[in-house]
Amino acid sequence: MAKLESLLLAVMLTLVAGFARAGDVDRLYVIDCGWAHAVDQSLWSPGVNVGVPIDLANNCYLIHHTSEGYLLWDTGITDRLAGLPEGQYVQATGQTWHRTQTLVAVLGALGINPGDVHYIAISHVHPDHVGNVELFSESTLIIQKAEWDWGLKLPLRPFRPEHKAQLIEGDKDVFGDGCLTILSTPGHTPGHQSLLVRLKKTGYVVLSGDAVHFASNWEHRRVPAFNTDQAQSVASMERIARIIADRQAQLWINHDKPSSDARRHAPEFYE
Ligand SMILES: [Zn+2]
Repeated sequence: MAKLESLLLAVMLTLVAGFARAGDVDRLYVIDCGWAHAVDQSLWSPGVNVGVPIDLANNCYLIHHTSEGYLLWDTGITDRLAGLPEGQYVQATGQTWHRTQTLVAVLGALGINPGDVHYIAISHVHPDHVGNVELFSESTLIIQKAEWDWGLKLPLRPFRPEHKAQLIEGDKDVFGDGCLTILSTPGHTPGHQSLLVRLKKTGYVVLSGDAVHFASNWEHRRVPAFNTDQAQSVASMERIARIIADRQAQLWINHDKPSSDARRHAPEFYE
């Protein structure tokens, strides 16, 4: 009997702890985290729009959870570029990257220090997404184990191997209350992930990292030639499409400039 009682007590405590922790996402800020001009968009759409230039948006997303505080999704291109008025040319992609404002300055204008951001989650380890991870030296980095392992083998390490990290394999309900769900969407890189956000007023939003780059690529399921796995890339897009249909979610394509321009940016936010 005593055993049964203690078991019941344990179950109740777990439930209470679960309820105490549950919260909502009450604010989602879209933050301009750099932009690029590329000389040839067919790098992302093989055989299509060859030699046609394109501008790419690049956002970070600051999410406020009512009981867990701030989580930052992606960190953008390095803040260092804000000091380079001409931007920085990247030969491999034919892109010139710019930063109008530093991430730290945008956070500061919201009254937030990097130390207030307890969690950073990144879609993948490309430089335009991990450029400022080490500004958040005390934050827990939420990343797929496959991406962590791959990233630390790159010639330029995207972050310190000592960085406090939560390595996950597959999907993850981050705070256990359904507000923020990491979705495993590999293909662009080995451990690429996306984030499903549940907002009270806006509803569900999928932040898809680089699972897709432009609206036209989404419509035609085009895969950039440099993705690490073509078949996985298509499967991940199909998976996102099913989740969008299931949750009636919006898809926010990170690098798609027309849709990014139409979105409210910090200090405004989505509820
Ligand atoms: Zn990428």
